[in-house]
Amino acid sequence: MLEVKDIHTYYGESHALHGVSLAVGEGETVCLLGRNGAGKTTTLSSIVGIQPAHSGKITFLGQEITRKYAYAITRMGLCLVPEDRRIFPDLTVEENLEVSAYHGDREITWTTERVFDEFPMLAELRHQPGGTLSGGQQQMLAIARALVGQPLLLLLDEPSEGLAPVIVQQIGRLIDQLSETTTILFTDQNLRFALKHAQRCYILEKGQVVYQGTTQELRDDPELQHKYLSVA
Ligand code: ATP
Repeated sequence: MLEVKDIHTYYGESHALHGVSLAVGEGETVCLLGRNGAGKTTTLSSIVGIQPAHSGKITFLGQEITRKYAYAITRMGLCLVPEDRRIFPDLTVEENLEVSAYHGDREITWTTERVFDEFPMLAELRHQPGGTLSGGQQQMLAIARALVGQPLLLLLDEPSEGLAPVIVQQIGRLIDQLSETTTILFTDQNLRFALKHAQRCYILEKGQVVYQGTTQELRDDPELQHKYLSVA
């Protein structure tokens, strides 16, 4: 479904990605792991066209998207939930969803009403300004906003970051539920979260993929976990 081949991405003179390659097949839930600054956010930003790759090739559903504009990539069904969530603080929860709704030729499976049915917490908050929500509620809203974009591939940047353990569990359950019908690529620094919710993992270090394998293989390899990830 998604293929990233040998991409190099720069911020000005600074070389952030040194030939990253990865693939996500339809129906998979894949995690991109790595320490702070490893290049996880940059990889997602290059995929969705926010920080385009200088070289290499990215294809989605067989179409090259390497140098397409971000809005065009989103319209194809690649929807990103950014690390900082970017909720509109002055718009209500409902308005946040309305402005993100997809209007195009692809099938509409996630309406605002469906979101409210499946996220009762957001339904209760529908008239509240986004800026008044807690971190966990904002993360739910950010994911819901991506869903009304009708994603074929949902990209989540560090969905568990900065949230209380009980909220992390809720987000984990949501990822499990969504992964039954949606293809997901998420990033995380939290190995335990990745092992619980992904089928396959890539580990990035200094802008390069240093490992790829199934979650089971990574779970069984504590040496590898210590080498590339800050885990106890
Ligand atoms: P984090 O968990 O901190 O988000 P990450 O794995 O997502 O880490 P990136 O944010 O992709 O890592 O950063 C990869 C490299 O690119 C780092 O060296 C970082 O300092 C650099 N970088 C990231 N954003 C910028 C930017 N806007 N300008 C310059 N350099 C940047």
